[in-house]
Amino acid sequence: MPELPEVEVTRLGLVKRVRGKKCTGAVVRETRFRKPAPENLNELLSEATLIDIRRRGKYLIWIFDKGTLLSHLGMSGTLRVYEQTDAEVSKHDHIDLLFGDLLVRYRDPRRFGFMIYKPSLASALSMPELTKLGVEPLTKDFNPKTFYKELRKSTGSIKEALLSGKHVVGVGNIYCSESLFLAGIRPTTKANKISLKRISKLVDSIKEVLQASIELGGSTLKDFVSSDGSQGYYTLNNNVYGREGLPCKKCGSPIKKIVQNGRSTFFCPNCQKR
Ligand SMILES: [Zn+2]
Repeated sequence: MPELPEVEVTRLGLVKRVRGKKCTGAVVRETRFRKPAPENLNELLSEATLIDIRRRGKYLIWIFDKGTLLSHLGMSGTLRVYEQTDAEVSKHDHIDLLFGDLLVRYRDPRRFGFMIYKPSLASALSMPELTKLGVEPLTKDFNPKTFYKELRKSTGSIKEALLSGKHVVGVGNIYCSESLFLAGIRPTTKANKISLKRISKLVDSIKEVLQASIELGGSTLKDFVSSDGSQGYYTLNNNVYGREGLPCKKCGSPIKKIVQNGRSTFFCPNCQKR
């Protein structure tokens, strides 16, 4: 499933190739997604200039000089740039956006993602999907003081608090395990019992893990824009995730795996304190 870093790398790739370009056409081969795609996308976007693409959580906001697209990659979606506008179409290639001699193709085998049109940026931003999101992890809004204060109200474990997306977006299961390891915090620790000092370490760790993943993805950006290459999902050099029974890279203790709310959690019982 595409996580925040993959979505951000996708955004960076698209911005680099098609920002500032005029949309010269759109082809919609399938409309049935989590939200239905507009059949008349070609008319809606014809001759519209793409001013910028922003990201909020895992949503991409395509700002045109007339209208806005909101897209999500769901469970299996990709957005790829092709250098030939007549690139061969395969089964799950559902929507094409043409930008002169470049083609942006939305492919989504499971169709849990979507691409919808809103007449204005304001109407896109006011959608409940966006307004309910927690703060962006890589901004100043995500800081120890505010996060600590938020967690006082929390009743569950720190892992649940992070995965809920209520306080901060984009900390998926892998990034959660990895950040908690770097911060030396046991995933089962009650979120409202962690000191400000340790929360501060956690905030830094989350930013570090996500940023490293984006940079790693950025370095494989050429795969992302190629017409045939599989879009890379970036396997970080994990410290704990997927390493059950293997020695901790810091202290050598075997990494433990537990299940919390149906999700696997990996941690070092020695390095990560309650
Ligand atoms: Zn350890």
